[in-house]
Amino acid sequence: MLYNGKNDCTAECSDKLHEECGVVGIYLNKGADGAAKLCYYALHSLQHRGQESAGIAVSDGTNIEYHKAMGLVPEVFNASVLQPIHGHIAVGHVLYSTSQHAHIENAQPFVTRSKLGGIAVSHNGNLVNYEQLKELLEETGSTFVSESDSEVIIKFIGKNYKKGMERALTDTIQMIKGSFALCVMTEKCLIGARDPQGIRPLCLGKTENGWVIASESCALDAVGAELVRDIRPGEIVIINEDGVLSFEFGERTAKQTCLFEYIYFARPDSIIDGIPVQEARLRMGAVLAKESGVEADVVIGVPDSGLGAAMGYSAASGIPYAMGIVKNKYIGRSFIAPTQDAREKTVFVKLNALKSDVNGKRVVIIDDSIVRGTTAHRLIDVLRRAGAKEVHFRISSPPVKFPCYFGIDTPCRADLISSSLTEKQICKKIGADSLAFISIEGMISALQGLCPASDGYCTGCFTGKYPMPAPGELSGKRI
Ligand code: AMP
Repeated sequence: MLYNGKNDCTAECSDKLHEECGVVGIYLNKGADGAAKLCYYALHSLQHRGQESAGIAVSDGTNIEYHKAMGLVPEVFNASVLQPIHGHIAVGHVLYSTSQHAHIENAQPFVTRSKLGGIAVSHNGNLVNYEQLKELLEETGSTFVSESDSEVIIKFIGKNYKKGMERALTDTIQMIKGSFALCVMTEKCLIGARDPQGIRPLCLGKTENGWVIASESCALDAVGAELVRDIRPGEIVIINEDGVLSFEFGERTAKQTCLFEYIYFARPDSIIDGIPVQEARLRMGAVLAKESGVEADVVIGVPDSGLGAAMGYSAASGIPYAMGIVKNKYIGRSFIAPTQDAREKTVFVKLNALKSDVNGKRVVIIDDSIVRGTTAHRLIDVLRRAGAKEVHFRISSPPVKFPCYFGIDTPCRADLISSSLTEKQICKKIGADSLAFISIEGMISALQGLCPASDGYCTGCFTGKYPMPAPGELSGKRI
């Protein structure tokens, strides 16, 4: 991630690199082939975590080959690309960064070859000490081809490789600070590692003839693997022909998993740290109904990530649920369109009201978040045009007031509507009859009800209290 240290929204500020990604690792028993194909299917099911580029690196035990390109998984890979890539170990990656930084150089996995052997790395997360580490590496002769913080990880592993892979990885992991879910591959083994706070998710699955590591359990389902468990915060898992070896690096720190994984980012059919994502969304909707109920005729949700909370709100309030909004599946992401005008136009093309569900009715509409306010503003317009009598907006996350430095794509502070306006002012600005956000306590109670053992969440984007100091927040250098 690039930080420019500005607190206003200049072109430079909005030009920073955000990364949200999905990672996969496959290890099949020796003699098996087809890791590339399994990796393809697993990556395809993580497409929601990144649509900018896709890549797969495969080892046949002696040699690492890879292919990566800009585009969606099925655009980057087809049978003629996959068939010639043989091997029983693979790592894959999908990248989601802003279009200003859409360069093939940033695509992953990063692969390096030295006389000691090859290494491939897929990383989801953001390193907060990237600038210092990069400088350190440059002083000792390293050169960089990308703007990605993930490149420092492979450079450090490469530099330490002579100590052995296990040591090289632990030394590297002790240097890097921030969020990371890593899949690392050598010619002989697959390694998974999760940052000490467990900010980004990573899980382990078992197939008939091997192992799978992935950002989300929906990728395990896609390849017929069974979810064994989540990789623990601060855990390294090494998979080779002797089986699975697990150990913990560094000191134990409090777990702080990103709440946005449950709110928006993860797929509803995934289970993260024992919590089924759809269940979490249903419960957040129920809490929202309890905290800010309103008299209405129908509850609708903003597709796709608002639907679970809308169903939960409807069930808890007794107000009938209806489709209400239709999403055009073939349109790109309005969220990262480069200008506000483009973002607003995209929302109109992307989302439309179902008149028969809302005409003449008092509507409660649930979305997972308000970031800039673009979607809410446009949707209220669309619903009123379709004849809605009243529109009550309910949000299944607390107000997003602070940028994320740990891997979720949020704009700089000046663009976050909740950082400068109160709930009442936002309600007026978006043109709703009423507006309410879930409370932080309410949201955490919804999750704890599902898996008390999974306690500990990062609330940085709601409270400004981050799991560790972030460069953009230090000494007034705010983005
Ligand atoms: P906004 O329109 O700027 O208020 O953004 C809120 C909408 O964007 C909601 O409908 C969310 O589902 C969606 N959203 C929230 N966070 C993200 C993200 N990091 N990337 C893409 N879309 C997002």
